[in-house]
Amino acid sequence: MTKFFCIANQKGGVGKTTTTINLAAALAKLGQRVLLVDLDPQGNATMGSGVDKHSLPSTVYHVLLGLKPIKAAIIQPPEVGYSLLAANRDLAGAEIEMVDLERREYRLKDALKEIQDSYDYILIDCPPSLSMLTLNGLCSAQGVIIPMQCEYFALEGLTDLVNTIRSLHAHLNPELEIISILRVMFDMRITLQQQVAEQLKAHFGDKVFNSVIPRNVRLAEAPSYGLPGVVYDPSSRGAKAYLAFAQELLSRNF
Ligand code: ADP
Ligand code: MG
Repeated sequence: MTKFFCIANQKGGVGKTTTTINLAAALAKLGQRVLLVDLDPQGNATMGSGVDKHSLPSTVYHVLLGLKPIKAAIIQPPEVGYSLLAANRDLAGAEIEMVDLERREYRLKDALKEIQDSYDYILIDCPPSLSMLTLNGLCSAQGVIIPMQCEYFALEGLTDLVNTIRSLHAHLNPELEIISILRVMFDMRITLQQQVAEQLKAHFGDKVFNSVIPRNVRLAEAPSYGLPGVVYDPSSRGAKAYLAFAQELLSRNF
């Protein structure tokens, strides 16, 4: 059975894309067949997988609007080990263009049905908002992975996201659940971060994964080489942490 996971957090710059590309690469290294869906018009996951977002004949935009079959839009970036349904600025228009379409929240889910048997994991990188795009991501998924920085306001933002997911679960996607809260850009030396990390554990228990992703410059510089950190420098602390996260995810067997 294919697992569909959405990497979501309505805040920007919290590590969604870094988590998506590194988890995809780590799962691929562990022998899984992975498709990464870039649902953000910024196309960061596309560029971070080594694909030039400006020169693409078909992207997730064409798939959502029914202009191209999904099979024609999926590409195989050479070095990363996973397949990609890419995105670029075209996608920003999809929001409005989808308004009149049937089953507009389920456009991605319906398209993915055609190819899901070819993959063990489908990972969806969401934009930082609760737009129709994110809704399409969340309506396709069984699980949400929430990357978060352990900062003072993080818990407040998390409550909003949890409520949104509850409401989606009730109205649009009864399968949806939070499967993982992942602490990212973590710095052990900062007491506040340790405190927030502990509060998170107390609140969300098992959903907070044991794996913690440290702040690591190799993860930040890898996208400029068109690679996830896990491929760019597998021996770095960041890469090892994402591999451990992938292993933890596999071992929990969702
Ligand atoms: P989002 O997709 O949520 O907007 P990104 O994954 O693009 O967030 O991350 C925001 C910025 O933080 C990027 O410049 C990224 O390279 C950097 N970053 C993400 N995770 C880490 C990390 N663990 N260590 C260092 N830099 C990181
Ligand atoms: Mg992003």
